[in-house]
Amino acid sequence: MKNRLSHRLQNISYSQTLAMSSKARELKNKGYDIINLSLGEPNFYPPDFVLDAAKKAIDEGYHYYTPVSGYLELRETICKKFFRDNGLKYLPYQIVVSTGGKQSIMNVLLSLLNRNDEVIIPAPYWVSYYQMVKLCEASPVIIPTTMETNFKIHPKQLEEAITHQTKLFIFSTPCNPTGSVYSYEELKSLAEIFKKYPKIIILSDEIYEHICYEEKHTSIAIFPDIHNQVITLNGLSKAFSMTGWRIGYIGAPEWIAKSCDKIQGQITSCANSIAQRAAISALQASPMEIEYMINEFKKRRDLVLEMIKEINGFQISKPHGAFYVFPNVSDLFGKKFDGRVIQNSDDLSDFLLEKAQVATVSGSAFGDKDGLRISYASTENKIIEALTRIKKTLM
Ligand code: GLU
Repeated sequence: MKNRLSHRLQNISYSQTLAMSSKARELKNKGYDIINLSLGEPNFYPPDFVLDAAKKAIDEGYHYYTPVSGYLELRETICKKFFRDNGLKYLPYQIVVSTGGKQSIMNVLLSLLNRNDEVIIPAPYWVSYYQMVKLCEASPVIIPTTMETNFKIHPKQLEEAITHQTKLFIFSTPCNPTGSVYSYEELKSLAEIFKKYPKIIILSDEIYEHICYEEKHTSIAIFPDIHNQVITLNGLSKAFSMTGWRIGYIGAPEWIAKSCDKIQGQITSCANSIAQRAAISALQASPMEIEYMINEFKKRRDLVLEMIKEINGFQISKPHGAFYVFPNVSDLFGKKFDGRVIQNSDDLSDFLLEKAQVATVSGSAFGDKDGLRISYASTENKIIEALTRIKKTLM
């Protein structure tokens, strides 16, 4: 019966981040002492004032469908947040609140892409961009980057990748999986290229914006010449540790926001009402309220950098944001450990799960077969134990 599935579906793979984490969960349930560093999921509890807002929403009776794009009060709050944190001016009709960043991305892709349209994606990229583009039967065009440029693209590479078929450019800053952060100047030089191609839309995934350690995050929509080409994507999962609440949102040109509303109206009706009420209080709060989590992530980042230096065959550059490291592990390929030859990063990730009982994600999921993603969104103790195990396994 498998061939009864749509070609669209047969053309894509399972999310490797979620697949690895479910494998880790299964092994854990069977009694194995697995440390899961595969998923980008903060170990914190959401702040108390957010939990209180959700409880209050239940008591006050927010049990019904909301407007498709989200409560007006939430969209107004998001506009204020965009202005306060990013200097961006959006009006409530330009905001669409969705069931997580993933739905926001899919709404945008379904709104814009026709079969064979080209979508430029710098690699390493977040695992689902590529698969979602294929789900829309469009063509991902990959710009590879390396550790030497901190995994960032040069404007020349961008211009070379543009063709008549280019519809969209998708990237994240801070980046999942590399943790690299584009500076104001770097974004400005990319904006200068986009300005020459006003039909190209930029989807800027800024879900890690607060998790930035060295410099302040910049939104590419800040450049007035291209503001109308940009969709700014954000959500509550990472900054407020609310992964399961599923709240994402975009600020976009009106015509795109309207089409996302149209799609969402047919697919989910609206995002969860209680989570939306909680999101209002989260986004009204000062970013100072979540600073303790960012400081903790920074400590963990520094710890991971120190410990990874000691691991045989791992080369690493310093990530400036998010909560991942993405070492190049290609020195290990072809080498034998415990009687087994490591052929590639898929192999290494499987081997580490089996022997060290540490779950990571192979770089191939992110379009870089030489990398391995390790999330440090877990507790310090677990990180220390996991990296010690990896070091011993690869001695
Ligand atoms: N975005 C997180 C990650 O990359 C969560 C899992 C997912 O949705 O891919 O690990």
